[in-house]
Amino acid sequence: MLSAEQLAQLDWEKTDHMMPAIVQHAVSGEVLMMGYMNQEALGVTQDTGKVTFFSRTKQRLWTKGESSGHFLNVVSITPDCDNDSLLILVNPIGPTCHKGNNSCFHPASSDWGFLYQLEQLLASRKTASPDSSYTASLYASGTKRIAQKVGEEGVETALAATVNDRFELKNEASDLLYHLMVLLQDQDLDLSTVIDNLRQRHSK
Ligand code: AMP
Ligand code: ZN
Ligand code: ZN
Ligand code: ZN
Repeated sequence: MLSAEQLAQLDWEKTDHMMPAIVQHAVSGEVLMMGYMNQEALGVTQDTGKVTFFSRTKQRLWTKGESSGHFLNVVSITPDCDNDSLLILVNPIGPTCHKGNNSCFHPASSDWGFLYQLEQLLASRKTASPDSSYTASLYASGTKRIAQKVGEEGVETALAATVNDRFELKNEASDLLYHLMVLLQDQDLDLSTVIDNLRQRHSK
């Protein structure tokens, strides 16, 4: 949330009291939507932890999700360099766009955003029937088998690199990353947890 000092620095005059607020997924980095906040909307957002805009269409405060339940839970709010726009990181509840897409900017998708989508899909396969997909059958074969696959793919990745086969390296690294994500899911972990860990090491 914004500190009192940060709040005082926001340039409301310059933005005609309608500050553009870009909403971004806190984990995947996907840009979900953008809207305008007046001072009151920002206050409500800070107080409730739910993204609230001033809707130009409705001409009133609008808490995203107020009727759909698809709220945007605030993780952080950051003003830009000259205090005339906001970046809001969120954990969204359900799809953000009223057209049913995760993002209002569908189908824009960055490479790293795709990795997150893939991980979500892999997570959903945990409850799928084993004969319905390879990933579901992997979970069913048990942790040892998945761990073994990660070991194999790790060795294959290393071998491809040692013989300078960049084509194979790309394929084996893909196999490795996929199986690693499945192993993490199997252990109720995810890439985000790993990234947080790397981030902590980095800051030491
Ligand atoms: P909600 O805030 O999700 O309960 O949706 C309430 C109403 O706000 C919808 O019926 C739409 O008219 C509008 N709306 C919801 N989500 C969006 C969005 N991402 N962008 C623009 N309008 C939206
Ligand atoms: Zn600016
Ligand atoms: Zn939309
Ligand atoms: Zn392989």
